[in-house]
Amino acid sequence: MTPLNRRRFLALSLGGLGAAAFAACTSELQVGAPELPQAAPTTPAPTLPPPPTPTPLPEPPVMPRGREVVTLMPGTEWEASGVVFHSGQPGPRLMILGGVHGNEPGGWLAAEGIAEWEVQRGMLIVLPRLNHRSAAAFERTIEGYGDLNRLYPGDPNGVPMARMAHEVVGLATEWRPHWLFDLHESWGFFNERGPNGGTAFIGQTVTSAGPAPALETVASLVEAVNARITSREELTVRSRPGGNFGGGGVFGDRDDLNGLSVRRGSSSLSIGRFVPGVNPVLVEMGQQDQPETRRAELHQMLVTEMATRLGMT
Ligand SMILES: [Zn+2]
Repeated sequence: MTPLNRRRFLALSLGGLGAAAFAACTSELQVGAPELPQAAPTTPAPTLPPPPTPTPLPEPPVMPRGREVVTLMPGTEWEASGVVFHSGQPGPRLMILGGVHGNEPGGWLAAEGIAEWEVQRGMLIVLPRLNHRSAAAFERTIEGYGDLNRLYPGDPNGVPMARMAHEVVGLATEWRPHWLFDLHESWGFFNERGPNGGTAFIGQTVTSAGPAPALETVASLVEAVNARITSREELTVRSRPGGNFGGGGVFGDRDDLNGLSVRRGSSSLSIGRFVPGVNPVLVEMGQQDQPETRRAELHQMLVTEMATRLGMT
C-alpha cells in the first residue's frame, strides 16, 4: 500500500468517526428532553423538525514538521513524485502543480525549486513534474496519454493523464489546499496578442477560478509582483469563475482516444468544483523572447508573494 493510499484510508476513517459522534450527540439530546405539559386550548404553534446539521468535512491532520515524499501512479511508467512539506503548525495549505505540459519548462523548473522550500505555518504540497515522459520528449503531451489539463476530475480507468488527473484530485481531497497554483507557459505575451491571438498568446497571465474574494487576492498579488518587474513582463489578471476553461465538448461526455474511453474534462481551474474550498489559479508565462530561467523566476515570485501573504514564511 502506498503512503498516499494509507493516508486516504485515514481520511475516510475520520469521516466515519465524525458521523458516529454526531449521531451519538443527537440521541443524548433526545434522552434529556423534558416532557411538555398538556397543550393549552389555544392553537399550538406548529412544530417543525430542526434543520439538518451539515456534517463538516474534518480538517486534515496537522502532521509533525518534515518533508514527506508522495508518489502518484506508483509503479507505472508515468509515476510522478512530489513533496508535502508539513510545517508542524496549523495554517494555510498551498498546492503547486508543475510539468503538466512537457514543453513548458519554466513551470516545472519553478516547481522543482519550490519543492525545496520549507514553510513555518500550514503546509506546502508540490507536484513538480506531473507528465515527466512528455517533458523528456519536450512535447505538450504524448499521443495516447491525453492532455492532463483537459481531463479533470480524471478517471481511474482512463488514459494515463486521466488517471493522473484523478490522483491529483485525490491528493487535493486528502489535504484540501486553500490555494492551488498550476504553473504553465504559453508562446506569446497576452499584451502583445494580435486580433487572432488565441491560446498561443496567453503568456504573462494569471487566471483565478475562485469567487470574488479570491480574485481580489490574486489581483493584489499580481499588482505587488508587477511593481517589481519590467513593463513587458507585467502580468494580466483573468477571471474564469468555476473554471470553465478549455474543456471542449460537453463535460462528462466520452471520447475515444486510441481505443481508450476518455471522459471530457476541464483544466485545473475546475478543481474547486471537485474539492470544496480550493481556489485554483492558473499561471502562464510567455516563452517568446523570454529566457526560461526568467520565466521560472517570475513563477516563483508570484508563489513567494502568495506564501508571504498567507503568513507561511
Ligand atoms: Zn500548459
